[in-house]
Amino acid sequence: PEGRAARTALALREATAAGAWALLDHPMLALEVAGSPAYLEPDAVVVHPDGTWTVVEIKSFPMVDGSADAAKVGAAARQSAVYVLALERIAAVTEGAEVGHQVLLVCPKDFSNLPTASVVDVRKQRAVTDRQLTRLTRVEDIAAALPEGTTFDPDRSPEELGTAVEAVPAAYAPECLAACELAFHCRAKARAEGAVESLGRSVRGELGGLTTVAGVLAAAAGKEGDPADPTVAALRRAAALRAEALAGVGGGVACR
Ligand code: SF4
Repeated sequence: PEGRAARTALALREATAAGAWALLDHPMLALEVAGSPAYLEPDAVVVHPDGTWTVVEIKSFPMVDGSADAAKVGAAARQSAVYVLALERIAAVTEGAEVGHQVLLVCPKDFSNLPTASVVDVRKQRAVTDRQLTRLTRVEDIAAALPEGTTFDPDRSPEELGTAVEAVPAAYAPECLAACELAFHCRAKARAEGAVESLGRSVRGELGGLTTVAGVLAAAAGKEGDPADPTVAALRRAAALRAEALAGVGGGVACR
């Protein structure tokens, strides 16, 4: 990939200098992520005669009557924004080059096998991704914090690998179950610690400074927590409403 990325950069420079239309089919781009190079392969990049570079993303989801599934378009926009960032690194050292912040999304038209395309503005996704990339902890810093000799070599014994995995802090969320092979391990660990993360990221966000299920229950029961804290106040109100509702249900059953 390193060689292909270098050849892509050269081809982009030559096409820009030529001042004519050019299409790069599956070029290879490099982007530094947390201090390590990541290689990316957009479907195509178009070089305009004025030196603008446009990312082309081809997807299999349909565009019906000119519009497509918003969630899928959003995912394609986020993916394209990463390509835009990678291209910007090359454009910065290429005379007369500029990367367009509008990408061309190509999809099947109305469930047929004919292509149709739409221009998608990725400025917002580009800004968000750029901010996230600058905030990422460098791989070297994460590695430096690990105990000496930690390795994830698959040839090591399960015990050694277990110890190595334990040494790395995890931020489990139920979403991990769909994406990560370590999900069952991290879920068991989160549950054993009573971490509120195991209830989901949105619940975690709502609970503010309360980090354990036991702490949340104690706050709701009025045993812990500052009543002036809006989260604690909301939990107590919810607990009171629940108790009221349950008492109502009990009363109904007794009447019958
Ligand atoms: S399941 Fe995977 S992604 Fe989720 S916290 Fe564990 S290691 Fe990280």
